[in-house]
Amino acid sequence: MGKLNVSLLRYLTAEDFRVLTAIEMGMKNHELVPASLAASIANLQHGGVHKLLRDLCKHRLLSYERGKKFDGYRLTNMGYDYLALKTLSKRDSLNSFGNQIGVGKESNIYIVANSDGQELCLKLHRLGRTCFRNIKDKRDYHKHRKTVSWLYLSRISATKEFAYMKALYDRGFPVPKPIDFNRHCVVMELVIGKPLTHIMEVENIETLYDELMNLIVRFADSGVIHGDFNEFNIMLNGGERPVVIDFPQMVSIMHPNAEMYFNRDVSCVREFFKKRFNYESELFPKFSDIERYDNLDADVACSGFTKQMAKDLNIQLGLENDDDEDEEGTNKDTTDFNQESPIKGEQLDSEEDEKKFKYKLELESDEYLEEQAAEAIA
Ligand code: ADP
Ligand code: MG
Repeated sequence: MGKLNVSLLRYLTAEDFRVLTAIEMGMKNHELVPASLAASIANLQHGGVHKLLRDLCKHRLLSYERGKKFDGYRLTNMGYDYLALKTLSKRDSLNSFGNQIGVGKESNIYIVANSDGQELCLKLHRLGRTCFRNIKDKRDYHKHRKTVSWLYLSRISATKEFAYMKALYDRGFPVPKPIDFNRHCVVMELVIGKPLTHIMEVENIETLYDELMNLIVRFADSGVIHGDFNEFNIMLNGGERPVVIDFPQMVSIMHPNAEMYFNRDVSCVREFFKKRFNYESELFPKFSDIERYDNLDADVACSGFTKQMAKDLNIQLGLENDDDEDEEGTNKDTTDFNQESPIKGEQLDSEEDEKKFKYKLELESDEYLEEQAAEAIA
């Protein structure tokens, strides 16, 4: 663990990042990106790109693999990490790297610092690799969607987390202050404290219990449910006040299963207090108590976290089924690597060939990637 070797960041050249970004863009439509495509996206000489690709493989930022039809490159976790870290450090959101402080279900957590030496928390989202929940649903869904890849899933998970954290923070909820995000990485305030699961005693159990139940109600009154409100995602700061973390699974109270998620959050707290503190109360909130007075869920939907992103992530997290797959026959992949591909071998012969398969983006627009690329290369 902690094997993210960031010292390399300083030695990578603008050209290295240009090539990494080209592979990232190529991976929108291709599981493996041929060198010729990388060269064309990066706008570099074919010959020059080969050496860069080789070196990036040596540093494990890319891997070279053999595919059915042709061979090519893909970004490794570390390659993707580097692209995000480079961008965040250019923006001054992050300047130095510290210890790994957590390995969550689907994340790695590090202490970092900005250029003022202020310590912050960096969360790297890692989705789509080791998640076996609802694997069948997901396969059915992803079967005819192009490249719903770990890159995309990890990125929308971070995008959602940042959007919710910001909406909650702006409303005065006790959550870490969101600082910045890029790709699959979120930078936020470092909570000085411990997750509830590591707390054996508290001064005033009843107060804490009430505070947590009130939070669940306040969330719901604002239009949302945390969805994973347990002792791992509730931290206690120095003053024994709760700080809530971990937001990728949050749902709207308009979700068809909202009542179930709400009750599950409530019973997580009740069960924990019973087991850990031997505390039970007759008082706990019910779904029917909700008095919605805010539209946090709608705000988040306007923040760039699109409906399609929400759906793709929900399916991955088992929060939604793909029930309209038949209507969406248009999603059928036409440039799937295993199907007819407009490129034979590694060579791009004509401009036409190039046009045919370049960036037929289904999941998002070209602008997003171009922005990213511009920022990485600038
Ligand atoms: P996951 O989605 O993988 O569960 P979490 O966001 O819950 O990830 O983070 C995992 C662990 O990392 C937490 O249980 C906590 O110990 C630590 N952690 C996460 N965010 C922060 C933060 N802002 N400050 C301090 N520690 C944090
Ligand atoms: Mg967690």
